[in-house]
Amino acid sequence: MIASVLPTYNRAPLHFVKGEGSWLIEADGRRFLDLGSGIAVNALGHAHPALVKALTEQAEKLWHVSNLYEIPQQQALADKLVAATFADTVFFTNSGTESCELAVKMARKYWYEKGLPDKVGIIAFEGSFHGRSSAGIAAAGSEKMTKGFGPILGGFRHVGWGDHDALHAAIDDTTAAILIEPVQGEGGIRPLPEVCLKGLRALCDEKGILLILDEVQCGMGRTGRLFAHEWAGIAPDIMMVAKGIGGGFPLGAVLATEAAASGMTAGTHGSTYGGNPLACAVGCAVVDHVADPEFLADVNRRAGLLRQRLEGLVAAHPEVFEGVRGTGLMLGLKCRCAPADMVAAGYATEVITVPAADKIVRLLPPLTLSEDEIAEAITRLDAAAATLAARPA
Ligand SMILES: *Cc1c(COP(=O)(O)O)cnc(C)c1O
Repeated sequence: MIASVLPTYNRAPLHFVKGEGSWLIEADGRRFLDLGSGIAVNALGHAHPALVKALTEQAEKLWHVSNLYEIPQQQALADKLVAATFADTVFFTNSGTESCELAVKMARKYWYEKGLPDKVGIIAFEGSFHGRSSAGIAAAGSEKMTKGFGPILGGFRHVGWGDHDALHAAIDDTTAAILIEPVQGEGGIRPLPEVCLKGLRALCDEKGILLILDEVQCGMGRTGRLFAHEWAGIAPDIMMVAKGIGGGFPLGAVLATEAAASGMTAGTHGSTYGGNPLACAVGCAVVDHVADPEFLADVNRRAGLLRQRLEGLVAAHPEVFEGVRGTGLMLGLKCRCAPADMVAAGYATEVITVPAADKIVRLLPPLTLSEDEIAEAITRLDAAAATLAARPA
């Protein structure tokens, strides 16, 4: 008999009942150190007082009105994002998938309005992840995600990560946009080198195509800048955001330049919940904290410390780990074993990590992870790795 919850997930037998900062408390009382943040979502940890306050104050006033009316919390959040980024305008969604949908629609509509309706092609990259909608799985393109769900939305082409020749060869007169994660998350914490991001921007400018960045996972302070592309000193035309921006409340956004968004006039797109007062009240509190340069400087400092300690961990367990990669607080431990085994070993030592492709165990802790918690993380990961190392091959 099918489970009453559609069984599309293999769930760990853990039942968290409470969260406090970087900690998750299991129903049986065990305290787990959370280095996953619900997959890069709880950017400020669990039950951050400023977020609890923003949510509960809004909850007592007004939950929902519809985008048929002005929503002051949404206006305030849009103004904050426009002030802090390349963007001139913002549309709010409830998830990364919905941000992907709009990013694709916006790019195609841009060329349509320019009188070039055949420019509909989107070039994306192998190993990418853009969500689970029809556009999202078409954009990622992997058989694992698309198999059985045909007909797949057309217009997407895929090139290998770092394959410059294939990228150039894939561009033609029908190319509308290039879509890429500055740091691949699900694909196994693969950062795009700064020079490549600069090169992509130059290529898009030269060929007259739009650059869409998917910063759903790597954005909102995760890499130590508000958005990862800032490290390369470039800006996209369109950017997808979600995960961290709501700090745990469902919220996403598409940020765009005035030019890129020019086709999206009244009636061309919408969302019932997108930009709802509760989500935007929380979003404002998240952005106020994360966009603070002092906070980001401290994230970088603590990220450097964690990275250094992880290098030590890898050196201590060469039979379990191959190395560390990633940037900021978006780090991956490359494993010699199945990453799921390391994640499970972590459950036993009460530390939460997240597996990814390419034999990677992801560390995506709250951006607020303290120095003491970094030390505790290493102790617990070390104990977990020791249990794997002791296992007969
Ligand atoms: C998680 C993720 C998405 C999808 O976001 P959802 O909120 O799950 O729909 C899209 N792109 C990237 C890079 C992600 O990590």
